[in-house]
Amino acid sequence: FLVEDIRNFSIIAHVDHGKSTLADRLLELTGTIDKTKNNKQVLDKLQVERERGITVKAQTASLFYSFQGKQYLLNLIDTPGHVDFSYEVSRSLSACQGVLLVIDANEGIQAQTVANFFLAFEAQLTVIPVINKIDLKNADPDMVEKQIEKVFDIPSDECIKISAKLGTNVESVLQAVIERIPPPKVHRKNPLRALVFDSTFDQYRGVIANVALFDGVVSKGDKIVSAHNQKTYEVNEVGVLNPNEKSTHKLLGFLGLLHMEVFNQRLEQEYNAAVILTTPTVPYKAVLSSAKLIKEYRQKEITIINPAQFPDKPKVTEYLEPIVLGTIITPDEYTGKIMMLCQARRAVQQNMMFIDQSRVMLKYLFPLNEIVVDFYDSLKSLSSGYASFDYEDAGYQTAELVKMDILLNGNIVEELVTIVHKDKAHTVGKTICERLKDTLPRQLFEIAIQAAIGSKIVARETVKPYRKNVLAKCYGGDITRKMKLLKRQAEGKKRMRKIGNIEVPKDAFIKVLKTQ
Ligand code: GDP
Ligand code: MG
Repeated sequence: FLVEDIRNFSIIAHVDHGKSTLADRLLELTGTIDKTKNNKQVLDKLQVERERGITVKAQTASLFYSFQGKQYLLNLIDTPGHVDFSYEVSRSLSACQGVLLVIDANEGIQAQTVANFFLAFEAQLTVIPVINKIDLKNADPDMVEKQIEKVFDIPSDECIKISAKLGTNVESVLQAVIERIPPPKVHRKNPLRALVFDSTFDQYRGVIANVALFDGVVSKGDKIVSAHNQKTYEVNEVGVLNPNEKSTHKLLGFLGLLHMEVFNQRLEQEYNAAVILTTPTVPYKAVLSSAKLIKEYRQKEITIINPAQFPDKPKVTEYLEPIVLGTIITPDEYTGKIMMLCQARRAVQQNMMFIDQSRVMLKYLFPLNEIVVDFYDSLKSLSSGYASFDYEDAGYQTAELVKMDILLNGNIVEELVTIVHKDKAHTVGKTICERLKDTLPRQLFEIAIQAAIGSKIVARETVKPYRKNVLAKCYGGDITRKMKLLKRQAEGKKRMRKIGNIEVPKDAFIKVLKTQ
């Protein structure tokens, strides 16, 4: 293929607006997958993604399409759709020249639509607005067209109206990809320069890297060097992608609770590994106070990722916390409640705008740690599911931070060490203790649950003892039955984590970190 006959594009959309369905139709239209087979969401192939109906990991497919007598190679780079995965979205986008921005004709622009649009816009990509689900009874594509013009400044005649489900007008999406998105700029004569936007490891084939080529050519037998670690690799095989490439994963830090749960599930399903999760934490920074410390750490400012390594005040002149610019789109009737929620999360309003007669777009600066755990769930529940949310990086700001320990009978629970804002320590500590009390099974002795800042206890709960005897139900001396029960109890214990002499179920921490 000549470079001018290649198009690299992504589909971006708010969750459930039809990205996967459109991808399936595009794969069918180009003969990449068979129409007769059950093609529900071919790109969402990981098991958890299917179970939860969301896309976590970028997948890629190469489509071949003939248009006006010419064959084109269209690389469809899939992006995750959920709010917790914006890092993977921008990574995938850096391999593209254009995007299809899919918007539900019934729901209109949502927060992720806005956030994704700006990621694409900042990367200077061509944006093709696609209004989907025009077959729905309540679809209002004209209203959505007006929103698109108002929020993104895209003329309404650039919108393509389709039904991905029925296949209506999907062909014109492919044509727009060819006509509106520029081919990649690759200078084949230059030395090789490529971006690895995804990579996997195959036991038999070695590392499989999905790359976007910027300069040069790559062929079998070439020796290539990684700019990242300077290691040399030999190219064994070169190919284009199809949706049946196998995929594994390396861990990216957790950005949100859903993210954490999905990875927990993935690790267990794909690697059969039992994992223990820690509190999702955001990268804080600390400005060191003395020349001696600066010398010791070899820098003025240190990043704290593990709350257990939080340096105390005498060592530090100032703490900094990451902040994000959040976008919320909501029916106007929920605006008041949402503003109160944002205020409680230490957020500062930046902007407010009506995107049509009944819907409002709010912009707030949030401390990242105020939204990583349960902000999304709270927003959803106070707006009956109608408000949508997404966010992007907005740098760092000064914050009064303290480290809080959670103790079970005096032993620190490493998984629950948290860094909190000073003003929130008592509330957060109380909530964690209360939730732990509800989650921990009673044991043979009393358990004291405490939240502490240094030696100061800020909250406390108690779990009363309980006598549990699995053999009590056995009558007489049926030894095989006794053995069976003891074995069953031992298996149950494998899913437990021991802190001091207290058995803690493995999912206790997720339950503690979640609201409800
Ligand atoms: P994604 O989260 O953006 O990948 O969305 P999906 O492709 O998974 O679609 C979400 C839901 O909308 C699914 O139940 C689809 O069947 C449905 N859907 C997608 N496209 C259409 C469409 O054009 N019309 C209708 N009525 N439903 C659609
Ligand atoms: Mg999907």
